[in-house]
Amino acid sequence: MHKAYCSNCRERKEILDVEEGTAKNGRKLLKGKCVSCGEELVITLSGSGAGTDNGSGAGTDNGSDEGPPGNV
Ligand SMILES: [Zn+2]
Repeated sequence: MHKAYCSNCRERKEILDVEEGTAKNGRKLLKGKCVSCGEELVITLSGSGAGTDNGSGAGTDNGSDEGPPGNV
């Protein structure tokens, strides 16, 4: 089961209808739909395996919490 960060749900979601594809730069990617809202999600694979998306997704989540107050 693949997961990706959904910008619509603002959290990591499981992906339905996963298809493999190739980006213009030759990288492998996976396309699918958010299990909750149906938003199209794309995971870019950096070549060595599917573990890469775990790190980047969690990092983005945490970072947005630490923004300067009063900015919004
Ligand atoms: Zn979603």
